[in-house]
Amino acid sequence: MTGTKAPGRLVVVSNRVALPKQTATGGLASAMRAAMRERGGLWFGWSGKIGSDTGRLRRVRDDTVEYVTLDLSRTDHDQFYAGFANRALWPLLHYRPDLVDYRREQLEGYLRVNALFADHLVQMLEPDDVIWVHDYHLIPLAARLRARGVKNRIGFFLHTPLPAAALLIGLPRHQALFETLSAYDLVGLHTARDLRALEDYFLHEIGGAMRPGGRLRGPDGRSFRAAVFPISIDTAQVAQSAREATRLDEIAQLETSLQGRALIIGVDRLDYSKGLPERFRAYDHLLEHRPDLHRRISFLQIAPPSRGSVPEYRQIRRELERLAGHINGKYAAPDWVPIRYVNQSFPHSLLTGYYRTARVALITPLRDGMNLVAKEYVACQDPKNPGVLVLSRFAGAAAELRDALLVNPADPAELADALGRALTMPLRERRQRWRAMMDVLEKQDIDAWSKAFLERLTS
Ligand code: UDP
Repeated sequence: MTGTKAPGRLVVVSNRVALPKQTATGGLASAMRAAMRERGGLWFGWSGKIGSDTGRLRRVRDDTVEYVTLDLSRTDHDQFYAGFANRALWPLLHYRPDLVDYRREQLEGYLRVNALFADHLVQMLEPDDVIWVHDYHLIPLAARLRARGVKNRIGFFLHTPLPAAALLIGLPRHQALFETLSAYDLVGLHTARDLRALEDYFLHEIGGAMRPGGRLRGPDGRSFRAAVFPISIDTAQVAQSAREATRLDEIAQLETSLQGRALIIGVDRLDYSKGLPERFRAYDHLLEHRPDLHRRISFLQIAPPSRGSVPEYRQIRRELERLAGHINGKYAAPDWVPIRYVNQSFPHSLLTGYYRTARVALITPLRDGMNLVAKEYVACQDPKNPGVLVLSRFAGAAAELRDALLVNPADPAELADALGRALTMPLRERRQRWRAMMDVLEKQDIDAWSKAFLERLTS
């Protein structure tokens, strides 16, 4: 007998928890659930609610997995979530230091909520548990757990980009935050560029070192591994959903409304990192320079509002309404609306049908950790007649989807050229490009991603 020991539970910690009854959750939630189910697990995080009793935990069990959530007080919510996480860290991590609104009390609130998470978690942990912490809300969590004596393996995955070290050091008290990454055993990032930024920060800005074997050592002497794990989608399931969606009434209605025009689609949360005003201007540029395309194309931009309590988000919403109105006012005809701008979210299953209907996807974030919409668009195409992906070089997905038409999202003329090229691309080239991208997605799906991360964390 080799006596291999069953692995301990998987404990997932993230700001928000996808409870078992919530069906409308994405690939990440399903992958986490699958990994937890296999070995038993616990998913811990904020309930999404504001309440006064932050000591009370809600527990839901689903077979071998327990979901535990806590409410946040109004002050904690405002300082930790709406404040430091979304008004300082989010813009910083998306290369927008101009939008960083740093306030010391909000950083204190952020650190306090991380300590609160650690206080609760430490009581639920068992010695063999493997802990996987997600995203920028919880960077210092491992350090808070270590301070409470936790010796378990702890991994961290950053779902946003990590900007160049020169930007990171612009954040007041950056070291109190980013140095704590060394309390993890493994830090996962989407791309080689993000990894270089992390190494540069540790090696050249805060007095860390590279140890033989590639481990990074923080100035406190703790060492950790950092590596690239590009997140993905459930490729087979998304492709299946797109095939099934062709039977939906909504898809037939969309097709009828197009009257044979080529559909260009964009799907993004309404966020300043997504490059939406630049995209609208590029579309304007295209219509201005290519009158031959008038009436032959239609641009559908789906942009569900997010984080409405943050002023920058309200501002971008107003700007996009103005730009969409301007474009339609300038080019529309009684029987043609050039841009359909929809501030609403759609069920994933329906979106997959929209993706499949679209001849071109225009996905041009200024910065994006990965951008799953880009991957989903590829997975949803009809292999016999696939559409073309126009993708920002600054989306993490661009590192893998090399056969997209890669563009700099800040240049409207470049975007317009790429759109023009996509709209007239011969079938043969569309097929070749699509096949190459689909090969990547079939091999690197969300399951492969979570397995690769967990294997590295536990080896
Ligand atoms: N999405 C959705 N309904 C919508 C808009 C988006 O289900 O109305 C999904 C989309 O298909 C994708 C996810 O939300 O799976 C967005 O992920 P992405 O990485 O592109 O961007 P993020 O919002 O995480 O910045």
